[in-house]
Amino acid sequence: MTGTLGTSTINTETINTGTISTGTTSELGLGPARQLVCRECGLGAPLAAEFACAECFGPLEVGYDFECITRLDIESGPRSIWRYRRLLPVPDDVDEYPNTQPGLTRLIHAERLAKALGMRRLWVKDDTGNPTHSFKDRVVAVALAAARQLGFSVLACPSTGNLANAVAAAAARAGWQSVVLIPSSLERAKVLTTAVYDGALIAVDGTYDDVNRLATELAAEHEDWAFVNVNVRPYYAEGSKTLGYEVAEQLGWRLPDQVVVPIGSGSQLTKVDKGFRELSELGLVQPAPYRVFGAQASGCSPVSAAFKAGRDVVVPVRPDTIARSLAIGAPADGPYALDTVRRTGGAIEDATDEEVVEGIRLLARTEGIFAETAGGVTVACAKKLVEDGRLDPDAETVLLITGDGLKTLDAVEDHLGLRAPVAPNTMAIRTALGR
Ligand SMILES: *Cc1c(COP(=O)(O)O)cnc(C)c1O
Ligand SMILES: [Zn+2]
Repeated sequence: MTGTLGTSTINTETINTGTISTGTTSELGLGPARQLVCRECGLGAPLAAEFACAECFGPLEVGYDFECITRLDIESGPRSIWRYRRLLPVPDDVDEYPNTQPGLTRLIHAERLAKALGMRRLWVKDDTGNPTHSFKDRVVAVALAAARQLGFSVLACPSTGNLANAVAAAAARAGWQSVVLIPSSLERAKVLTTAVYDGALIAVDGTYDDVNRLATELAAEHEDWAFVNVNVRPYYAEGSKTLGYEVAEQLGWRLPDQVVVPIGSGSQLTKVDKGFRELSELGLVQPAPYRVFGAQASGCSPVSAAFKAGRDVVVPVRPDTIARSLAIGAPADGPYALDTVRRTGGAIEDATDEEVVEGIRLLARTEGIFAETAGGVTVACAKKLVEDGRLDPDAETVLLITGDGLKTLDAVEDHLGLRAPVAPNTMAIRTALGR
């Protein structure tokens, strides 16, 4: 059970972000990871394929004992997320196993988008550049590395699409079997780009939340299956910290003032914040205040609704949105995402399907980046947050663009005003161009 819905208060004191010490190696070979810690009651548990607290069923998170680490240690590391391996629950020789080497995607100074939004200093973190074109390659790589140490041999997941791609590809590269469960409504492109890796792919008649429940049952039945976002979720989730690390490193070892993050389960948002906090605690960046903003699709906005209503409880919804990668009606980390946004002084907004398409097109025509619907959600919500003054237009801002538009062509297909072919002569071209 990963759900923490109904949890009304979050005790931030119990969120373990690790301590700094001389470091000893963990027996399991999970690098600086030392134990699992309950996010609700703070109880510690040994490192294992567990995701819920034995005492209170709260979600477990990895707790660390970091060694001293310098900027140079990181900068001289691999050109992938593994440059941060000493901050992740993975063995030090992680890069020697076959893996997809995700991360170190570009951070783009988005001057034209900034102008369109009325902002001054805007950056786009373009995670479409990952091996299977979404940020999910980061979390899957970390989950696979941890799962190997924990003795698993099959990589599995319930997925809203991008995770399916990432799991199937990572398993193929590692020579593992994969089992991927998807809701039957998934975009065709995401089905094909998973099937090509030749693992087991099963479409289930139901929503993502149904598929997720099914995965939890299967995880209990199949002890050698690592469901990346279920039974090894604590390790998987840590992969999202690398987005925070990279943004800070690429800004020249600084934290941005504001960051806008799409919310599906809410995990990524909380881990970007965790990454920022760790860098401050380790002295790798100058500690500075920053604000974390969340973005949802209006057709699946349980966290945004809770934020707007001033509630701590995230009430599950039945998703109905073109942003299928964010279509999680009962987000496991929703309450923690709320907590992060409130603690940092940010806000959560949501965007209609129409605004999402406009967001995709705005990013494409100003910066030459074609994002999937989740990226459209982020851009559209950023626009609304600037318009009503909650996102400071003068503060340095980073938008996380987490997936590629080639996977969600359906969303834009009817909006691009494609013209019928013309005759092969210059006159016809002039007429078509209206000159
Ligand atoms: C899964 C996904 C998200 C949401 O991440 P969470 O950690 O579940 O909140 C955002 N963008 C894309 C493209 C995704 O595939
Ligand atoms: Zn607990």
